[in-house]
Amino acid sequence: MAREKIEPAGRLREILRRIDGRGYGAYRNCEGAYAFDGFVLLIDHAQADPFAAPSRVRVRVEAAVAGFPARCLSTKTREVAFRDFLARGFAAAIDAKGPGRRGSGKSGQIAVARPGQEVMERSSVVVTPDRSVEVRFTVGLPARGRTVLGREAEAIFFDEVPSLVRGSLLYPTTDALALDRHLEVSEDADHLRAALRDRGLVAFVADGAILPRASGVDDRPLHGAVPFTSPPSLRVTVDLPNRGTVAGMGVPAGITLIVGGGFHGKSTLLRAIERGVYTHILGDGREFVATDPAAVKIRAEDGRRVEKVDISPFIAGLPDGRDTRAFSTDNASGSTSQAANIMEALETGAGVLLIDEDTAATNMMIRDRRMQELVTDDLEPITPFIDRARSLYRDLGVSTVLVIGGSGDYFDIADTVVCMQAYIPEDATARAKAIAERHASDRFTSAGDGFGTFRRRVPDAGSIDASRGRREGKVAADGVRGIRFGVHDIDLSAVPQVVEPAQTTAIAHAILLARGYMDGRRTLHEVVARVGDDISTGGLDALTPHPVGGLAAFRPFELAAAINRLRTFRAGQKGK
Ligand code: ADP
Ligand code: MG
Repeated sequence: MAREKIEPAGRLREILRRIDGRGYGAYRNCEGAYAFDGFVLLIDHAQADPFAAPSRVRVRVEAAVAGFPARCLSTKTREVAFRDFLARGFAAAIDAKGPGRRGSGKSGQIAVARPGQEVMERSSVVVTPDRSVEVRFTVGLPARGRTVLGREAEAIFFDEVPSLVRGSLLYPTTDALALDRHLEVSEDADHLRAALRDRGLVAFVADGAILPRASGVDDRPLHGAVPFTSPPSLRVTVDLPNRGTVAGMGVPAGITLIVGGGFHGKSTLLRAIERGVYTHILGDGREFVATDPAAVKIRAEDGRRVEKVDISPFIAGLPDGRDTRAFSTDNASGSTSQAANIMEALETGAGVLLIDEDTAATNMMIRDRRMQELVTDDLEPITPFIDRARSLYRDLGVSTVLVIGGSGDYFDIADTVVCMQAYIPEDATARAKAIAERHASDRFTSAGDGFGTFRRRVPDAGSIDASRGRREGKVAADGVRGIRFGVHDIDLSAVPQVVEPAQTTAIAHAILLARGYMDGRRTLHEVVARVGDDISTGGLDALTPHPVGGLAAFRPFELAAAINRLRTFRAGQKGK
């Protein structure tokens, strides 16, 4: 970017007074950088009309003025948490100021990407190399009809924005204790997540954690919930840098079943584990729930498109003779979609699979003795998960955590069985093993010995097109679980580990960046890893041609999931 010329704030006031009452396009004259008392205001892009996407604005507060201590930036974890804290503070300051309607359309509205319960890297607040703090937000430049309301705009930039800056971006007015707690909780959570592998665990759920959420559309903790209590035999302790020692349930690597009666909290526990790949804010209830960062939720997703995925470990010998080592369909069934989801996750390096019977295809999970006799193996293309889970762990080191209240056949292959009783887990491993001895399932294992190798795909850049009419690269998030990609829609409703619209927006842009790495040789795994490297070095700004707020960090799994769900996506296979 060219070095911006910074003009005195008075210049902006002049412009706004001059264009007052003119056509809306005159707002273009405001684009530029202005020195205010204690900060620089950058109007990067003025919207073309009052109903268009609001104007992009930044505020930059110099390090000496913002005054935040060095401990906010001493590690990557702290930097991310610090920025997240400021983004929350800025959003709260906007809320406190009340709705800023000042005319037609989005006139007068100041908005910043709204953080949820997770602490993550966000582009809405960045710390520049000279350690100044930059906040990126949007402003609906005020209009009556299509006429510039210059005085209203003046009030926004000369009263409201400075008061937001004073209220949320200066250390002297910050709740220092809350800031330190935020940094410490993040540091503890990252420490906990990093401690899992050495201890042979894939997840940890602290005693006292609150797992259920207020509702399906409200991710805050359920009021009056029963706190988590670990079974003594699975209890482990971890020393954290700030909180000290925490005790909780360690979920060991291998195959873990979560069993129990309906409504006893099985899915709630698995959902908390699935979110444990992220850090949670203080008061969330899941601050000390941590999961292997490579854990991927798997579910059935009938109707999805599948492109040349090797699903042969799970499905082979289809009656129509189709090759399941390079399986494509525009309308996958429950079992084929689940098989594809597993294989795609493995392809991208998943280390733990999380599966809930509530959202799994039954025929993909179980096949009991009686059915094996009636429908013999030569007539059944599906090798159920029960016959692959062990070799998945033994050969590929991939663990499984599985909610299964409906089939005791799984006792045979489980390493650990947790039984939920009125939201409290009990270690039922020994009992389940004894029952398995007493009542043999008499199943015969239909899978051969090992998991075997599977084929990886090489994406075709030409199949990824985000143009819309004459416009190149038109992408946007549609809520959390949808992406508009040019003229195509990508459905992420079966990808629950995307949790915020800002992640979805970032993924939408990341697909375009990924396309540039598709050279006909790199595998999809390599392509998404390149994008991850770019973000590690250049931050989320690597995703867009100019700096924007409204992006949040995501994992390679979710980027690959979005690419896999683009219906035009085409791939070859490595070595084919
Ligand atoms: P399951 O999967 O075993 O059928 P769920 O996890 O869906 O059960 O939980 C059933 C209900 O119990 C949900 O409404 C959930 O919010 C509630 N619930 C789960 N855990 C707790 C808890 N620890 N305290 C209070 N209510 C809970
Ligand atoms: Mg359930």
